Amino acid sequence: MPQTVTLGDKSFRLYISEEQILAAIKQIADKINQDFHGKCPLIVPVLNGSFMFASDLMKQLTCQCQITFIKASSYKGTESTGQLTALIGINEDISGRDVIILEDIIDTGHTLAKIIPSIRDLKPASVRVATLLFKPKALKTDITIDYTGIEIPNEFIVGYGLDYDGLGRNLKEIYQVIELV
Ligand code: 5GP
Ligand code: MG
Repeated sequence: MPQTVTLGDKSFRLYISEEQILAAIKQIADKINQDFHGKCPLIVPVLNGSFMFASDLMKQLTCQCQITFIKASSYKGTESTGQLTALIGINEDISGRDVIILEDIIDTGHTLAKIIPSIRDLKPASVRVATLLFKPKALKTDITIDYTGIEIPNEFIVGYGLDYDGLGRNLKEIYQVIELV
């Protein structure tokens, strides 16, 4: 695996290995398997960033489950704008369902603070949140995270589904931006 990668005008250094990512996902899956034993949760990943997490998590679920995607975007470059720029919603009936929203990363929490009420409006039985990555110091909203993979400091990362201006989503590992001083 490369130790550094360059995407557009920025360089990034290796930060979290594929092995660490998959171990964190296994821990989340184990908890979901316990909590939803005998149930059939509806997995709702938030596109685009969550597609790899969703795929690897689904493979570890032993309970029956279904999946449907939503799409939201609040990032321009390396900063969250707090404004949700796009949202492709849920078209099916989710009333009475146990929903698990999947995020690649929770930063300010603004994205989820908007998505959660719009999902609750559809009258699911329950709504939980699973995130692969969490930046506790960046959180600006009052949201409950039920399953967290890895906590990280407030720095910009790419890889494993996460992008820098659309690039880097294909990286198997996670890389941290190298700040030039
Ligand atoms: P929030 O609304 O919590 O501020 O941010 C949520 C979304 O912003 C995430 O789902 C992700 O798409 C994007 N995001 C937040 N932090 C990062 C980061 O460090 N790198 C990348 N590539 N995207 C991020
Ligand atoms: Mg996201």
